[in-house]
Amino acid sequence: MVNFAAGPVMSNEGVLRIGAEQVPYFRTAEFSEIMFENEKLMKKFAYAEEDAKVVFLTGSGTASMEAVVMNVFDRTDKVLVVNGGSFGQRFTRLCEIYNIPFTEIRLEAGKALKPDLLEQYNGQGYTGFIVNVHETSTGVLYDMDLISQFCNKNNLFLVVDAISSFLADEFNMCKLGAGVMITGSQKALACPPGVSVIVLSCESVKRIEEKDVKSMYFNLKDAIDNAKRGQTPFTPAVQILLQINERLKEIDKSGGVIKEIKRVSSLASDFRNKIKNLPFKIVSESLSNAVTPLHPFSVSAYNIFLELKDNYGIWICPNGGELKDKIFRVGHMGCLTADDNDKLIWAFNDMKSKGLL
Ligand SMILES: *Cc1c(COP(=O)(O)O)cnc(C)c1O
Repeated sequence: MVNFAAGPVMSNEGVLRIGAEQVPYFRTAEFSEIMFENEKLMKKFAYAEEDAKVVFLTGSGTASMEAVVMNVFDRTDKVLVVNGGSFGQRFTRLCEIYNIPFTEIRLEAGKALKPDLLEQYNGQGYTGFIVNVHETSTGVLYDMDLISQFCNKNNLFLVVDAISSFLADEFNMCKLGAGVMITGSQKALACPPGVSVIVLSCESVKRIEEKDVKSMYFNLKDAIDNAKRGQTPFTPAVQILLQINERLKEIDKSGGVIKEIKRVSSLASDFRNKIKNLPFKIVSESLSNAVTPLHPFSVSAYNIFLELKDNYGIWICPNGGELKDKIFRVGHMGCLTADDNDKLIWAFNDMKSKGLL
C-alpha cells in the first residue's frame, strides 16, 4: 500500500517500531524529559518565542481547534474567520457553539485571499482573526504575510491552524506575530492520529490565564500548569508522544525544519511536473507543498479514488460534499519518495490506457 492521503500519512521505520512496543507508565521523570524535549523542538520548528508554551492535547486536530476557541476568545471579542472550505467552516461552527461574535470571510473553493477583500474590515473594532494557513479541503495556502500585516495594523489576536502546513510550508510564528499555532500528529509530523499540539505565545498564555473556561478536559490553564513539570493533566496518548519525539529528533538531526520543508516541497514539485500530460487540472490559486488538488477533465474524482484503492493498492484523498466528483487530492506529506510518485503516475497512465481517466 502507498498512501498519498492528506492524513493520516505514512510513518517511517523508527516511528513504526515505537508503535509495536509496550506502552510505558508516564508519571515519571523520564517521560517528563521527553515532553520537555518535544516542547523545545516544537518551539524551535515553529519559530516561537523563547517563553512560549506548548500543549500536547490527546485528541485529533479538531480538539485543539475547539480548545483554542474556548480558551482564548469570549463574548467580548469580535473575530474574523476565513472560511474557504470545510476546515474554515469548522471554526465558524466553533464560534457559534461558544457564542463568540464573528464575521466570516467566505471564499470560493480554490480562491486565494486577496488584499482588497480584507480592506473593508480595517478599523471595524475586531479583536481576533482565525485562519487555517492551508485550507486542506481545497488545497489553498493563504498569504500569511498579508494576514499578519492586517492583524498588526488592527491589533488583532491571530490564531493559526497550521495542522496540514507545519513542516510542509514555511511558517514563522514570531515573525507573523501569531498568538497561537495548532498542528496535529497525523499530517506532516507523520505519526498516527490522536495528538494535537498547540503552541502558545506569551500573550496568549496571559489571555488564557485571565479567563475562566468552563471545561475540564479542554482547560488550557491546567494543561499549561502541568506542562511546567513535563506532564499532562490526564493520561495522554503516551505512545504517540514517544513517536512525535522520535520524529522531531530525527528532523532536528537531519538538518532541521528548513530541510524537511524542502524535502516535502521537492516531492510536490516532482509530482506536479510528472502529471503535465495527464487529463487533470490543478485547481488552487495558491498551492501548499502539502497537497495537490486536482480536477479530472472527464471522469468522477471519487471514482479515481475508488479505482486506485481497490485495484492498485494506492490511496489518494477524495473530497466530500459538493466537491466529491470534482476534486481529488494527492498528498506529499509523510514517508513518501519520488519512486512512490512514479508508482502513482504509472497507475494513472494505466487507468488512462484502459479508458478510466
Ligand atoms: C486535518 C486538519 C484538521 C484536523 O482534523 P482532525 O480530523 O480533527 O484531525 C484541521 N484543520 C486542517 C487545516 C486540517 O488539515
